[in-house]
Amino acid sequence: MNIKLALLSFFFAAPSCNTVPADSSAGMSSASSNAVRSSETASGEAGAGEAGTGDSASPVLEPDFQETTKVIRSDFWIAKDARQGAVINARAPSNAARVALNGMRLPISKDGFFLIGFDRDSGSAATLVATLTDGSKVQKTLPVAAGKWRLERINAPYRGGRSSATFRKLRGPEIAQIVAARKIATDAQGWRQDFIWPVKGRISGRFGSQRIYQGKPGSYHSGLDIAAPTGTPYVAPADGVVILATQKPFTLEGNLLMIDHGNGLNSAFLHSSSIAVKKGDTVKQGQVIGKIGATGRATGPHLHWGMKWHKARTDPLLLLPPQ
Ligand SMILES: [Zn+2]
Repeated sequence: MNIKLALLSFFFAAPSCNTVPADSSAGMSSASSNAVRSSETASGEAGAGEAGTGDSASPVLEPDFQETTKVIRSDFWIAKDARQGAVINARAPSNAARVALNGMRLPISKDGFFLIGFDRDSGSAATLVATLTDGSKVQKTLPVAAGKWRLERINAPYRGGRSSATFRKLRGPEIAQIVAARKIATDAQGWRQDFIWPVKGRISGRFGSQRIYQGKPGSYHSGLDIAAPTGTPYVAPADGVVILATQKPFTLEGNLLMIDHGNGLNSAFLHSSSIAVKKGDTVKQGQVIGKIGATGRATGPHLHWGMKWHKARTDPLLLLPPQ
């Protein structure tokens, strides 16, 4: 038995969507350089050791003895560059007691991971601050790249805001249900996964696109539209818990299904012809959750997929691989 194998340093597993752990990309500060050096030393010693011949001065260890060398993360690790509309996996420095983005406190998982998100119209920089258990702070400023939204200038006056008395009567309670659903926080872990397409199809509308009527901006499109025939099943893009499944179509959204993916991230699927799950259900990534339709205000059958991270409206397309 090669006992020295047991001394191999322990490297944490990054989530599947992330390939570079903080520590190997570190080295920006002297503190992180030290951390990297010390972990290299530890693994180097283990790797350099000859197969256990028993003739060295190493202490005799129990066969099941396992020593793990904890890698110290002295800086944040961020899966990708920040940009408007993006939701990004991040990991806090070791011993972080808490983390805040622009002053908003964020929950951290036991292994230090958390999410950060940037609204479609977020500012051009953001600040992450971790407060460590010893009271010291690690701060990181992130440049936030501008989103490339499709803007369409229309030479016609803006016509909006008119609604019937019937619409207004229905709309209040509908909005109340949506707001109440978004307040439900679950411990779903879908936020840690690589998202998949709920359905493949032609993209018939992009998040963030906006018409500007003679200089007056209309409201921007708040989701990703995927066109597919009525009745086409669609699946959960990530694990989650159903926080709203309407019993009858809403005026605008039609049959509306909302799923919480945990850590402040949720999805809304609009216009379904039917919904296959009910409020409170736990859903798994890839599970059929509804069928495409054109209920509510829709010009043809499609899935409108909106996402929110806390109050930030974000772009589902930025979470997805190419179709
Ligand atoms: Zn849409």
